[in-house]
Amino acid sequence: MNAPVPPRVRFAPSPTGHLHVGGARTALFNWLYARSQGGTFVLRIEDTDQERSSDESYAAILEGMNWLGLDWDEGPDAGGDFGPYRQSERLDLYRAHLIKLATEDKVYRCFCNADDLAAREAAVREAGGVWEGYDGHCRHLDADAIAAFEAESRPHAWRLRTPDEGSTFWYDVIVDKREFQNEVLVDRVIVKADGFPTYQFACVVDDHLMGITHVLRGDDHVSNTPFQLLIYQALDWKPPKFGHMPMILGPDKKRLSKRHGATSVAEFADQGIIPEAMVNYLALLGWSPGGSADEVMRTKAIVGKFSLKKVNSSPAAFDYDKLAHINAMHIKRLTPEERLDLALPMIEKQGWGLADDWRIHGADDTRAYLARLLAMLGGRFSSLVNLPEQIGFFFTDDHFKDQEAWDEHVATDEGRSRLKVLAGALSESLDLDAPQEAEAFEGVVRELAEKLGLKAGDLIHPARVALSGQSRSAGIFEVMELLGGPRTVRRLETAASA
Ligand code: GLU
Repeated sequence: MNAPVPPRVRFAPSPTGHLHVGGARTALFNWLYARSQGGTFVLRIEDTDQERSSDESYAAILEGMNWLGLDWDEGPDAGGDFGPYRQSERLDLYRAHLIKLATEDKVYRCFCNADDLAAREAAVREAGGVWEGYDGHCRHLDADAIAAFEAESRPHAWRLRTPDEGSTFWYDVIVDKREFQNEVLVDRVIVKADGFPTYQFACVVDDHLMGITHVLRGDDHVSNTPFQLLIYQALDWKPPKFGHMPMILGPDKKRLSKRHGATSVAEFADQGIIPEAMVNYLALLGWSPGGSADEVMRTKAIVGKFSLKKVNSSPAAFDYDKLAHINAMHIKRLTPEERLDLALPMIEKQGWGLADDWRIHGADDTRAYLARLLAMLGGRFSSLVNLPEQIGFFFTDDHFKDQEAWDEHVATDEGRSRLKVLAGALSESLDLDAPQEAEAFEGVVRELAEKLGLKAGDLIHPARVALSGQSRSAGIFEVMELLGGPRTVRRLETAASA
């Protein structure tokens, strides 16, 4: 028996936007397949659509892949024997294969422009017919007609001659047999009038020349596969295996989109999702380890368990709560230092940092300050999700305020007068030019409450809302310590006079 050939798979994004959940899942499943089978993972950039492709998007996709930890064996920055790996740098190859097809009369010139096509489409529809995308108009142009068009330098595209009878099918590694009747497959364009190949053609040429054994992609490409198989046929090439992964839906079972929440990998990163949790969650979108295995897994364990056979063919619903839960489970095993490494960029990204007048004990820079904040929060926001919103009040006066709590505890005559008195007592009793500890703040608050014949809570509630904007927070005296005396007093005064 021959040893199995290690697979060569690829992720082939078009650089027309961010790395989205769907693309990231496609990349991940290809990567997992390669890594679990000792195969090769290729990154190929499909940038033949000059108008829609951009360098920013190219950079964003690479950044997203790096963030997820999906390293590629061949591709941009990595090199490889089958490069270049950007389609815009491979135009000669597509040209050479077009010429081969033209010589064998397997393609033909199409002189129809967009207006011609639109007019014929309208006529077909008006007559109650179905327009499949092209009607074969230029398939049988005679030599004179072609010569006339050429004489007027009319631009032309190239279309593949597709069979009208029989069917085109494949055994999908995820979905099983898929079959399309050839009569519904139109002669699509393979090289556009501007000389650039279409996605269909470039993809086939590259998958073949790069030795790709398995094309694993989203099932929005199912309708492209029969046409691509016909290109393989025309070029006398053996096609790779195809596997189409199920669609990703939103929680409401409609196609996942912006309106459901974050959809790009970068957005999830900003929200405090960590790479291994994202990888873990994406892996579960259409795949499961099976049996009673724990779904919270480190990437290495997923690689060990991954199998294409266990990829489900029915659509997967994106569950934001489950992602947050998996994230929390992953964060649990991190050390405080690792947690800090993740949290610090989230804070810096907001443009926040330790200011000069904060006078905090043992916190001389933003990192040390954040370490204190995280330690104080303990397990409360350990998922880091939405961390900037949760602790924004330590960095900026312009933070979220719970209006209801504000109206109840701060914006009343009683609330204002208590805050004013408290601010005064703190300034008088404490040396605000020096760092003060939680106990010092506590001492002043309790003493004042007693003096006024109040319960400590009568001062603490309005103070908490005035300082944090929230009706619940970590221990109020620690909050005061970490805000520092000057800012604590200033915020109390501001709230008292608002
Ligand atoms: N460039 C295509 C896309 O981004 C790739 C499709 C494929 O994997 O063949 O959708």
